[in-house]
Amino acid sequence: MKKLTRRKALKDLCIGSAGLLLAPSCLAENQQDSKRQVQMGKRRAKADFKIVIKNGKAYINQKLVEGYFIGIDFNGKLKISKEPLQAEQEIDAVGKIVSPGFIDILADNANNPEQTYAIFEKYKVTDGLTTVFQMHGGAEFPKKFHDYFDKLPHRVNYGVSVFVMRLRLKYASLAKRYEMAEQGLKEGALAMAHSPEYQPDTSYEELKKYAEIAKKYERPYFLHLRYSSKEKELDGVKEAIRIAQETGCQIHIDHINSTGGTFNMAKALDLINDANAKGAKITCCVYPYSFWATYLISERFSGDWQKRYGITYEDLQIVGSGEKITVQSFPIYRKRPGLLVAVPEGTMPFEKTINLALQTDFCMFGSDGGIEKEPRANSHPRGAGFAATAIRHCLNIGMSLEQALERLIDRPAKLIQPAMKDRAKLQDDFWADITIFDAQNIRGKATVANPNQFSEGIECVIVNGEIAYQNGKLVKSNGKPIRY
Ligand SMILES: [Zn+2]
Repeated sequence: MKKLTRRKALKDLCIGSAGLLLAPSCLAENQQDSKRQVQMGKRRAKADFKIVIKNGKAYINQKLVEGYFIGIDFNGKLKISKEPLQAEQEIDAVGKIVSPGFIDILADNANNPEQTYAIFEKYKVTDGLTTVFQMHGGAEFPKKFHDYFDKLPHRVNYGVSVFVMRLRLKYASLAKRYEMAEQGLKEGALAMAHSPEYQPDTSYEELKKYAEIAKKYERPYFLHLRYSSKEKELDGVKEAIRIAQETGCQIHIDHINSTGGTFNMAKALDLINDANAKGAKITCCVYPYSFWATYLISERFSGDWQKRYGITYEDLQIVGSGEKITVQSFPIYRKRPGLLVAVPEGTMPFEKTINLALQTDFCMFGSDGGIEKEPRANSHPRGAGFAATAIRHCLNIGMSLEQALERLIDRPAKLIQPAMKDRAKLQDDFWADITIFDAQNIRGKATVANPNQFSEGIECVIVNGEIAYQNGKLVKSNGKPIRY
């Protein structure tokens, strides 16, 4: 009898909502039972958890497992249980995957973040991302960045690296550049970041000096390599390896599919693998698209770019409008700052680029993108569809869902330690950053002609314990800064 009542009470707790007393029929038990039930009723009135997610397949310890109740307490922290948990709100995730929130390690919103960050974050959270790092550029003055942005509402967790390119533009003196780069790490930046291809006047010694500073603070150094042509790209990879070996700094090669390994991926990966085997610490990321996009004004389009990339004017398409560049329009548009153009799909064939990189133990996903405008952004579609596309791509090429999630969550989180020490896992007392998705239907919908499209298959996104996105609707903004 007692067992039955208890079971019934538990059932009520699971399906009931907060504040309801037990049903009168339950109270018509003997005195003792009745007392117990009132106590349980009180507990239900003040449920232990705010949300419980049940019936889903959960990604725990890099495996997909069933039979767990994922509780979220009132502080936004997790409780993983085999037993039912009483909560104010239940989410039934039957048939769905319950995963730690996706992480974008290489998001890009550096141009005009004060004006664009709300749109940028909107297209990140709807893609299942709960933590979005700007490690390609970030901020030249991290304290100033955080003083401003930490006061504002955020849909996702966020963090930045030291934007060395901007420091170099601001300060001619090397000593001052180094001083400010170090200052940025002291002020909470998660990494150092530089892009010698965009500033080819950066000497090897200068490039290396930033690595030494990063190493002093045990932060990674994100590099957009020096070369992207077929003939020279491996020299950029070798330069990064040399820096890793000479400084001991953790080096991360940005989007190696578009810079470093576009034409010689197998060789680039071998070089990194060999260096790692000898003690270097080198990682890289790829974005799951077979075409790159960048600003027409950038160095990439100087000199003999047609020969370098094996493409011509008409192969370039303005992102957000789909307009094709011509011999006549090229010189006009080339003067226009901030105009992004994309090369055709298949320019970087998957089987020769990212499919190889994804097989290694040091490659992860990073978007290299962000949506900055509505209704039609001039931003690569990866800014909106990156994570869903990454998972779809892995499944399409026969990788397991676990392998996809490891490259989208575990590896990025491992790189940003200790800042991510209590995130990115479904584990007791970790922050409840969760993405519930439909593995059958997940896919990115954003295109070059219309990047402003939410990904499909993202059912619910929870950030620090609050529902941020559910059933196609944006809900609360509960993102926090991730910083030192
Ligand atoms: Zn880049």
